[in-house]
Amino acid sequence: MTVRVRFAPSPTGMFHVGGARSALQNWIFAKQQGGVFVLRIEDTDAARNKPEWTEGILTALEWIGISRDSYEGPYFQSTNAGEHRAAAARLYESGRAYYCDCTREDVQARTGSKFQGYDGYHRDLGLAPGEGRALRFRTPDEGATVVVDLIRGEPTFENKLIEDFVIARGDGSPVFLLANVVDDMTMGITHVIRAEEHLPNTPKQQLLWEALGVKPPVWAHVPVVVNEKRQKLSKRRDKVALEAYREEGYLASAMRNYLMLLGWAPSGDREIVPWSVIEDEFRLDEVNPSPAFFDEKKLRAFNGEYIRALPVDEFIEACQPWLTGTGTIAPPPWQPEEYDAAAFAAVAPLAQTRIAVLSEIVPNVDFLFLASPLIDEAAWAKTMKDGSADLLDAAVAAFEALESWDADSLKSTLEAVGAERGLKLGKTQAPVRVAVTGRTVGLPLFESLEVLGRERTLTRMRAARLRLV
Ligand code: GLU
Repeated sequence: MTVRVRFAPSPTGMFHVGGARSALQNWIFAKQQGGVFVLRIEDTDAARNKPEWTEGILTALEWIGISRDSYEGPYFQSTNAGEHRAAAARLYESGRAYYCDCTREDVQARTGSKFQGYDGYHRDLGLAPGEGRALRFRTPDEGATVVVDLIRGEPTFENKLIEDFVIARGDGSPVFLLANVVDDMTMGITHVIRAEEHLPNTPKQQLLWEALGVKPPVWAHVPVVVNEKRQKLSKRRDKVALEAYREEGYLASAMRNYLMLLGWAPSGDREIVPWSVIEDEFRLDEVNPSPAFFDEKKLRAFNGEYIRALPVDEFIEACQPWLTGTGTIAPPPWQPEEYDAAAFAAVAPLAQTRIAVLSEIVPNVDFLFLASPLIDEAAWAKTMKDGSADLLDAAVAAFEALESWDADSLKSTLEAVGAERGLKLGKTQAPVRVAVTGRTVGLPLFESLEVLGRERTLTRMRAARLRLV
C-alpha cells in the first residue's frame, strides 16, 4: 500500500510556523516511506478565506523546500462539496445519522441549566429531512473508540461520552469534520499527521470513517507549539507568520532545521544539521508529545550560524532583497543608484559574521551608500564629549596626510592621535565612527573607512567637526 499523507491548511490567515512544522513532518514522512504528499486547501469557510492566503501557503511551502512539483495538488475542499453531501446522505440512508431540529435552548431546557452536549432527543423520532433540520451522527452507546496514534499511543475515548454530533447543518451544508474525513477518504490518505489541537475531533472522525465503511488512517498528532509562557502560539500575541520571519531575514535552511527540532532531535549532541541528516534520521514515532517551545532567541542564534556558514557569494546574494527592497521587503534608505555592489562585496565578509538576520545588513552598510550618514542622535550625544572636536581635528589632519588609504594605515594613524591624548583606541575610534557611520556600533571601523574612501570619510569628519563648534 502506498503511503499517502496530506497537509490540509485553511487559507484564513498568514501561514503559521506551526503549520510549516506539520507540513515538513508530513513531507519527510512521505519521502521516507516512498509515499505521496498531497496538498489540500480547506477553503470551505467562505467568510474567512481569501485567495491571497492560499497563494501565501503555496509560496511559503516553496520557500521552506516543499516545491510545487514535489506534491500532488493543490486540491480545494470546496470543489468536493458534492462528495461531502453524498456522504452525509449515505449516513442518513444507512441509519447512521438522523435529523434533528432542536435548538441549544431546547436541549438545555430538557437537561438542566448547564449545557452538557446534545441529549439524543431525536435519535428515534424519525424526523424527515427538511429546511432547518441538522443531520446528527448516531454515536455508539457502548464500547470505546481507540485512536491509533504514532506519537500518542492509543488514546481511547468512551463512545457514550461522545455526543451525537452534527454532520450537516440546517441548510444541508456538511460541516468541516465530515468534509475533512470525506476528502481524506477520497484522496486515499493513509496517515493523518496534524496538530494536536485536532485530537478531540479524532474519535468522531474515526467513527465517521468506520460508518462509511472505510478503514481509518493511522493518526499522528504532533505537539502544540507554545511561547515562553507555555501559551499556544497565537497570531494575536506572538510572531507566528512564516512570512514575517522571511521578511526579517531568516534563511529558509535555518528555519526548517529549527522547525524540525520542535519535539524532535537528531542523533548525537547536535541541533544544527544538514537537511539530508534530518531527512534520514527523523522518525515520526520519536516525536515528543509534550508542547514544543518555539524559542525565538534560539532560532535567531541558529540563523546567525547559518548565515556565517554561507559562502560569501551566497551571503551577498541572500542580502539582495534587503539591499534593493524586493517584493514585500521594505526598501533601504538609499536610492537604487546610490548602491555600489563592489563596495558591498568588500564589506560583506565583515558583515556576515556580525548579523543574525539578513535585515540587519541595512543599518550595517547604509553609511556606504547614503550621501551623508543617518545620525543616531542618542549615539551622537553619548559619544561627542569635550575633546571630540580636538580629536576630530587631529584625526582629519592625520588622515589627510596619509599616503596610502588602507585599513592598517588608518588604524595606526588614529592610534597615534589617541596616544598623544592619552586615549586608548576604543575611545579614539568612537567619535570617528559616529561622524562617519552615524552609529556607535557597526562593522570594523578601519575597513569601513577604507571602503568608504578618502574623500567621503574626510567630508563626514569635517561635517561632524562643524557641528561641534
Ligand atoms: N484545515 C485544518 C486546519 O488548518 C486541518 C485539519 C486537518 O489537518 O485534519 O487546522
